[in-house]
Amino acid sequence: MTATILDGAAVAAAMRERVTARVRQLVALGVVPRLEVILVGDHPASQVYVASKGKACEKAGIRSATHRLAAATRAAELAGLIAGLNADADVDGILLQMPLPPPLDGRTFLDLIDPARDVDGFHPTNVGLLHQGRPAFVPCTPAGVLELLRVASVPLEGCRAVVLGRSEIVGKPMAALLLARHATVTVCHSRTRDLAAVCREADVLVAAAGRPALVTADFVKPGAAVVDVGVNRVEDAATVARLYPGDEERRTQLAVKGYTLVGDVDFNSVREVAGALTPVPGGVGPLTIAGLLANTVAAACRRRGLETGA
Ligand code: NAD
Repeated sequence: MTATILDGAAVAAAMRERVTARVRQLVALGVVPRLEVILVGDHPASQVYVASKGKACEKAGIRSATHRLAAATRAAELAGLIAGLNADADVDGILLQMPLPPPLDGRTFLDLIDPARDVDGFHPTNVGLLHQGRPAFVPCTPAGVLELLRVASVPLEGCRAVVLGRSEIVGKPMAALLLARHATVTVCHSRTRDLAAVCREADVLVAAAGRPALVTADFVKPGAAVVDVGVNRVEDAATVARLYPGDEERRTQLAVKGYTLVGDVDFNSVREVAGALTPVPGGVGPLTIAGLLANTVAAACRRRGLETGA
């Protein structure tokens, strides 16, 4: 069997078109959605993500600004910035880019964001609502995975789903969403025994462990849908040659950038077993940003009692 490759970029483009159309309608009503992003420190991947989010907002007609704070920012200063944004009636969405540089604790500051503008869906109020099956703001990455599975017509009701990873931003909300779609869900983590055997029970396997190519063909039931959330920088030429034999594009990336992005799934072995599979890059990544735009527009609508529409 050779897996169907699920095109996350195409699904994301369709989501973004819907968002852009809804923004146009809102603008006609005098409402221009506004997102405020806070970036603390100079984490290289975070810089790239924040820049992409800003560009995507601009393309969709959403106003956005980034507050760049030094890594040595004091807790009181960051808390003050969030309080100021919460108090600004013109702000629809507030996003605090994770991770924060130590000693700042992410949880402490995410808890300060107004739940009505928590477009990442990380505030305990939104987490609680999600787990109660009445979601408000759903974290963007798992929401994107669900949309990808919907578009690919992957049946979820009654299926065995395994989520590999139990983080607050991917694993746990992913499990809640699959449960709400009536899947039978198992969540695996770093202390799960016999990981491959548990994963092999899955009709739908979502890998979000942050370990390059951890999921090999022996983790996958023939015909399963495998979604690879992992984004890992691999800098070692021997590993790249082993994972992507003869792949000139990867070799060039390594030479030019010093790394290539590898998912949590060993793409070349798993594609021979799975029924459907997402690539890295071009799978889940673009959906995360599309989800953020959708949540920002939803926030702008809900705060004004308007239909979210997108
Ligand atoms: P995390 O480090 O917070 O959590 C990883 C989870 O995987 C933990 O629950 C841990 O117990 C589990 N785990 C780690 N090693 C394991 C192993 N060997 N066996 C079994 N379980 C293991 O990571 P995260 O923030 O959830 O991100 C996971 C991956 O997804 C990362 O590669 C991250 O870059 C990527 N990610 C991608 C997007 C996107 O838009 N595509 C968004 C968020 C995260």
